[in-house]
Amino acid sequence: MTSCDKKTIQDLIDGTLPWPAAKSITSSYKDDDRCDTHLQILWERVPWPEQILCPIGEHLHIVQAASGRAVRCDCGHEFGDYRQNWKLNTLVRVRGDRESIEEIYPGRYACDPEWMRIREFLCLGCYTLLGSRPLHRAFRSCSTS
Ligand SMILES: [Zn+2]
Repeated sequence: MTSCDKKTIQDLIDGTLPWPAAKSITSSYKDDDRCDTHLQILWERVPWPEQILCPIGEHLHIVQAASGRAVRCDCGHEFGDYRQNWKLNTLVRVRGDRESIEEIYPGRYACDPEWMRIREFLCLGCYTLLGSRPLHRAFRSCSTS
């Protein structure tokens, strides 16, 4: 079992740990308190007092709010009950032309906008990008993920 101190876990979360160390830690058996340490670090970084129950993405958590379990951004913006799709309560930006797609996938890495768009979900409180999904043109009217 690999034993990690809090600073190492912070570096792992921030992506600043050298790859060989990160690989070793993530591929090994976990410390008994790894999950609690991870949640504690995340909780120390947010401005609100409610407990983080589970991180569900970068900047996004399920928290024990006064109204019940809810999805919340690092900034404190709430997206509603954790059992509902948080993306339905975001600002949605669609990259549907070559220029906007090439801002993130330059040159030959860009998809053909005639075939695919990129839907991005942003927090209404701080405009942080919380997630993205490719969206094939043929499925644009029926996809909710
Ligand atoms: Zn936010």
